[in-house]
Amino acid sequence: MPATASSPSFVPTGTLPEPPANSPVNSPRMFQEPADSVPDELEVSLRPPGFEDFRGQAKVTERLMLMVEAARQRNDALDHVLLCGPPGLGKTTLAHILAQAFGSHIHCTSGPQIEKAGDLAGILTNLERGDFLFIDEIHRLHPSIEEYLYPAMEDYRLDIIIDQGPSARSIQINLPKFCLVGATTRAGMLTAPLRSRFGMTNRLDYYNVEDLSHIIERSAGLLNIPIETGGAREIASRSRGTPRIANNLLRWVRDYAQVKADNIITQKVADAALAMYDIDPDGLEEMDIRLLEALVYKFSGGPVGLNSLAVAVGEDESTIGEVYEPYLIMQGLIKRTPRGRVAMAAAYAKLGTQPPEDLQTRFL
Ligand code: ADP
Repeated sequence: MPATASSPSFVPTGTLPEPPANSPVNSPRMFQEPADSVPDELEVSLRPPGFEDFRGQAKVTERLMLMVEAARQRNDALDHVLLCGPPGLGKTTLAHILAQAFGSHIHCTSGPQIEKAGDLAGILTNLERGDFLFIDEIHRLHPSIEEYLYPAMEDYRLDIIIDQGPSARSIQINLPKFCLVGATTRAGMLTAPLRSRFGMTNRLDYYNVEDLSHIIERSAGLLNIPIETGGAREIASRSRGTPRIANNLLRWVRDYAQVKADNIITQKVADAALAMYDIDPDGLEEMDIRLLEALVYKFSGGPVGLNSLAVAVGEDESTIGEVYEPYLIMQGLIKRTPRGRVAMAAAYAKLGTQPPEDLQTRFL
């Protein structure tokens, strides 16, 4: 079913007009850029530009490289790709790498930024053949806008209804062949019709310490700070399996080494810097500890619902669910049960307290 373009200023004619100065194409809601550059200065310096520098996620990169090669041999655009996984694992980076592999432009936006069907129409009609469209947090697209995307993805066609009531009419605009890269931290929230229109879905996993150490060593080289293997491993093991966190911690340790040590990151320097930053040896930060304390002390170890936990620690429910909880679960500190979150024996050990005797029955 075609969606209605609710923006009255979007009145397509036979030939497409230049986007007006205030159109989404020109507004900060969407930016177009060469594939090898990204908006944030710090990210630019550390983001790997090609597959050869993208460490880890071997299965995903192998599949993507094969898809790229096949599409290039056929002189075709890449099939639409969905990338899922927690924040900071490299979804945006991979989107840029894909566009870079084709020497194409990448247009970046995100689900919540596309407020009206007209916004999406503006973005889609600005694409050129072979361009990449990256939609971050695609699970947050409004359902009516999602419907608009279906024919665009499947048939490279835009169906829009202009006007309302008796004078309403549907028009079609042909779009150039483009590749949509969707990224989501909540794959389960994607509707089945949208998910099925992606040629390939890839799930990114947390990185192991070895891969993170390599990423940290590469970043240290770009930041011009000498680092020993022990230093890189110390930062890696406290980075929650996440490259973005690894790079952030590295920047902090670099500052520490510059002011308090001899401008070289050894294991000892990294350890002292991270202790000063309140990052514990397992990578837990202040909010993680507050969550564990709330669960164990305020809610007697659970089970407790996510919303009560969020209120108790004063943090947004979705941030807890997407950012903090997955790592705590991965570390075996808490568990999701049908009745709510439960503290595991490891959580009591972390807080230096004894678990209750009925711990096992709480999982039922
Ligand atoms: P996401 O889009 O999944 O939130 P990003 O792609 O923005 O994550 O990655 C965050 C940062 O982590 C990037 O700036 C990049 O420097 C770094 N990064 C992510 N994955 C890798 C990787 N596999 N190798 C090297 N650096 C990476």
